[in-house]
Amino acid sequence: MDRDAMLRRVADAGRPWDVVVIGGGATGLGAAVDAAARGYDTLLVEQSDFAKGTSSRSTKLVHGGVRYLKSGDVGLVLEALRERGTLMRNAPHLVRNLSFVVPAYVWWEGPFYGAGLKLYDLLAGEMGLGPSRRLGIEATLKAIPTLERDGLRGGVVYQDGQFDDARLATTLLLTVADLGGCALNYMPVEGLVRAGGRVSGVVARDLESGRAHTIAARAVINATGVYCDALRRLDDPGAASVVSPSQGTHIVLDRAFQPGASAIMVPHTDDGRVLFAVPWHGRVVVGTTDTPVTDTPLEPRPLGEEIDFLLEHAARYLTRDPKRSDILACFAGLRPLVRAGAAATAALSRDHMVLVAPSGLVTVTGGKWTTYRSMGEDAVDRAAAAGGLPERPSRTRTLPLHGHGTPVRRPEPWDVYGTDASAVRRLAREDAALAEPLHPRLPYVAAQVAWAVRREMARTVEDVLARRTRALLLDARASLEAAPRVADLLARELCRDAAWRDRQVEEYAALVEGYLPTGGAGA
Ligand code: FAD
Repeated sequence: MDRDAMLRRVADAGRPWDVVVIGGGATGLGAAVDAAARGYDTLLVEQSDFAKGTSSRSTKLVHGGVRYLKSGDVGLVLEALRERGTLMRNAPHLVRNLSFVVPAYVWWEGPFYGAGLKLYDLLAGEMGLGPSRRLGIEATLKAIPTLERDGLRGGVVYQDGQFDDARLATTLLLTVADLGGCALNYMPVEGLVRAGGRVSGVVARDLESGRAHTIAARAVINATGVYCDALRRLDDPGAASVVSPSQGTHIVLDRAFQPGASAIMVPHTDDGRVLFAVPWHGRVVVGTTDTPVTDTPLEPRPLGEEIDFLLEHAARYLTRDPKRSDILACFAGLRPLVRAGAAATAALSRDHMVLVAPSGLVTVTGGKWTTYRSMGEDAVDRAAAAGGLPERPSRTRTLPLHGHGTPVRRPEPWDVYGTDASAVRRLAREDAALAEPLHPRLPYVAAQVAWAVRREMARTVEDVLARRTRALLLDARASLEAAPRVADLLARELCRDAAWRDRQVEEYAALVEGYLPTGGAGA
């Protein structure tokens, strides 16, 4: 996938695109796949890298959302369960079945959560991944050997899905390209073009050359997540906000803290939050918090109190208490919650919303990763109508995604490439230098860097270490130590000079500071 070739297509288009999607997260990529699969000429532009926003910072679950049962939102759970099944069928290389154990320390928790999870099974129906079960103390400890034993009365186990969010985003990008669509990172939209009161295109700047492109479009979809109100105000400066951002933070720990194959799910912490401790790529991801925020930086920083909350609660459920110094990485993301006028962010709807402005600009926001496909379908339905495009049905429910192959039975780093895995391995076989590991504590080799640049539009050290591989989240310090080598490889692939290479390493070092709780790589 060649960025320069994509850029030439934009410069030489000569006629309006059918659909231009702004934003390269789950929602925008989902809309672009849906539009391209319908045969519309489709372009997606992302201001930074694909999935740089919220879509690389999730809890990595493809789930119906057990927590919504509590609020009686059965429709929301049903939709998400249906989408969970669709995604497992269309991207079996990226989504796997995971057992979640709800530990019970009070007598009523077993029967109470057992009954709730039976309802979850019922709603999943044929799309169920296996029935939930009550567990005795021994069976609970067998599933989570490091679970706090003191006062344990047993538990309940249920099944849900797990994935790699940034890799799914990359897969959607590759699917857009397979379908003949065009997508560009580092291409922010700075303005909207209007003709006769209608939005007829966008002005986007290529950050690599500095050149602004005026891009004509019959339909424009705003899929910019927590930034969607800023985009809507380019269309209507008086537009009222429709999203309310809420920050969620995770910490990543060594697998020794939770060596079993199952995840822990705590449905109700002291202050009513849901907490997960999930095995992921050989580590444990613990999260998440839910803090209303007003600032929406592209690099949100975990708050000190969020880290304290996660450490304190992890310590309650695990035999070994994790300390700040045990944190391999921490990361924060911003939920684009649809405003419902409620005061507390946690009470707002997680459902998605599609808005069509009088100018024809379509905004799609809210929802969750699990429902990205149905969000894309809804947005493209509305955009086709607004832009007067020929009516064509969505095809994405049964569309296999790029790399679609054998189902994942065992989590393994190369599975995320699906059918591309053999080509990545071949790179390593053909060039001994590319077979070298990037770092002793990371499960990656140099070939994956070359592949990310050549085939997955990675442009920076961060793109490679944060999203094409997940090195930054698996071990932020190790990823920093690997950065100079990655910068060398990138400079070679992209024909950049030594000054560029040095700047890349410096910029990456500054980024890593935000992924370490004590604020220092050596801390
Ligand atoms: P984003 O991913 O933020 O994408 C918007 C993109 O628009 C960004 O990349 C941004 O750079 C780009 N952009 C903004 N302005 C411009 C512009 N002017 N020009 C071009 N591009 C622009 N969901 C699940 O299903 N499972 C989970 O386990 C889960 N866990 C979560 C945990 C946390 C902590 C959070 C915060 C969310 C979680 N979610 C989960 C929800 C899910 O991650 C989000 O709903 C989803 O990622 C939002 O995707 P998006 O594309 O709308 O937004």
